[in-house]
Amino acid sequence: MKNIYFIGECMVELRAMSAATLHQSFAGDVYNSAVYLKRCFPQVTTSVVTALGQDNLSKKMLERFESEQINTQLVFAHDTKVPGMYYIETDEHGERSFIYWRNDSAAKKVVDFLDADALEQLSQGDMFFFSGISLAIIEESAREDFWKVVKQLKDAGVKIVFDPNYRARLWNSVEETKEQYHLAFTFADITLPGVEDLTTLYDVHSVEAVVEYLKPYQIEEIVVKNGPESVVTKEGDTLQSHTIIPVTNVVDTTSAGDAFNGVYLGARLSDKSISSAVQLAAKAAGTVIQQPGAIAPKDIFQLAMAE
Ligand code: ADP
Repeated sequence: MKNIYFIGECMVELRAMSAATLHQSFAGDVYNSAVYLKRCFPQVTTSVVTALGQDNLSKKMLERFESEQINTQLVFAHDTKVPGMYYIETDEHGERSFIYWRNDSAAKKVVDFLDADALEQLSQGDMFFFSGISLAIIEESAREDFWKVVKQLKDAGVKIVFDPNYRARLWNSVEETKEQYHLAFTFADITLPGVEDLTTLYDVHSVEAVVEYLKPYQIEEIVVKNGPESVVTKEGDTLQSHTIIPVTNVVDTTSAGDAFNGVYLGARLSDKSISSAVQLAAKAAGTVIQQPGAIAPKDIFQLAMAE
């Protein structure tokens, strides 16, 4: 049985439904990816590695993970901290705005919980995934320890997977981000960047420029996402361009990239070729953006994937 670990943060989501009503759910890039991977590839053991609190919302979040068949052995409960939260509102023109309360979240402490037992378990995985958001939320004081964990896992033969998922507001400076991303690209066996994410950081404006930028790194598998335009992959020296069928009824693009990542990695762990993994991942992402919110209803998602 194949095994993947997603380290990072899942938050409490509050969505404004009307002036007086908020809808509460849970979302966060690594969690979203884990959900979509597991829904498409139930035979792959899919774990989220994070820290929550001891509060009722943390308990509900844990229950939600379990209801999505996500392995929670490495979901830790911090004594005093609580989960991060965000509020999302869509105006009359369809523009979304967000407010976050995540600066003191339990997830920032996740590295502190990675003891010898946890490392032993992680070392037996096939893949270890983190994103630029995971890197940004891990406390600065824990970064050195985080990179030690990554090195140890890579040495143990676990494939290191990185999606840059750049969120400027989570970083102190561009220099800090670049320093961390340099380490991430150095360790990565697979990377799944979006063109837009890297434009601000490295002044790269096309899939070709992203591939060129990543050339000096020893990354086995590069998957460049570019919205509805195309996906370009590079495995060894083999470059492939994959056509994406644009979706016309786009409702909410939240988690398109997350769904893509989860399903792509699930497919690769299930021995699918790069091109069929891209097609499945693009189908999942295209389905998710036709639904509001990060997590599409399971029945609608499964039905669309079965077509
Ligand atoms: P991110 O959400 O990380 O910024 P993208 O915007 O590149 O990533 O989208 C991720 C994937 O979602 C794309 O590779 C594509 O497969 C799918 N996707 C995004 N927008 C569309 C669209 N309008 N029509 C169809 N598929 C889309």
